[in-house]
Amino acid sequence: MRFDVLTLFPEMFEGFFSSSVIGRAIEQGRVEVSLTNFRDYSTNKHRTVDDTPYGGGSGMVLKPEPLFRAVEELVRDEPIRPRVLMMSPQGVPFTQLKAEELAGHDRLILLCGHYEGFDERVRQHLVDEEISIGDYVLTGGELPAMVLMDSVIRLVSGVLGNESSAETDSFSMGLLEYPQYTRPADFRGWKVPDVLLSGHHAEIDRWRRHQSLLRTWERRPELLETAELSEEDRQFLKKLKEEAGGG
Ligand code: SAM
Repeated sequence: MRFDVLTLFPEMFEGFFSSSVIGRAIEQGRVEVSLTNFRDYSTNKHRTVDDTPYGGGSGMVLKPEPLFRAVEELVRDEPIRPRVLMMSPQGVPFTQLKAEELAGHDRLILLCGHYEGFDERVRQHLVDEEISIGDYVLTGGELPAMVLMDSVIRLVSGVLGNESSAETDSFSMGLLEYPQYTRPADFRGWKVPDVLLSGHHAEIDRWRRHQSLLRTWERRPELLETAELSEEDRQFLKKLKEEAGGG
């Protein structure tokens, strides 16, 4: 899988591309990343990429020419045009489901805005989809692009040492993940639940499923409306609700 990131601040990606799981994935060639400073595609001698908004108002707007030229150059030899994603607080909210969908693409182009954002014609004629990482406004699209890449890259086959670890993560099954413990079994008198030390795998799986359901019900009950639930899950949830007096 390959990511092309268009940004005015490529240096922001240095630590991200060279550390931890993502750094290893790139080093091992499981993913390819490329940074393009779209200032290099500016059409004027001052290498300007922004201008004041038509109609007045504060801030600067990213001009269309450098972005169109940079993307057109990147996709010139591609038989199938890769998907172009714009980082935008106005986009569709980013979710694990979206990360899973994007992990199925061979190549993605990410546009990172800055200042007041992009000229509307970039949205209309260059971009396939706008992605928001949450209902807050950041100074630029670099952190959102890193968030997106991080969550997509860890789904690429072979990137996580243990393939199953992404499968049990929160949201992957439509639920929040169960609580995790490691050694020591007794830390300051706070003990690890006995079942996890029992060696009974079926019991452990059952306990984890119940904890997952309980946690989701307590913290994100709306997820239960779309999660895939077995008859046993439903019975467990019914009991929880009855115990809480919710009916
Ligand atoms: N004026 C724009 C608006 O109100 O929609 C906000 C522009 S913001 C200051 C600059 C850039 O940061 C955006 O073009 C976008 O690329 C990025 N950005 C900011 N918040 C974001 C978010 N929540 N999700 C994705 N990208 C974001």
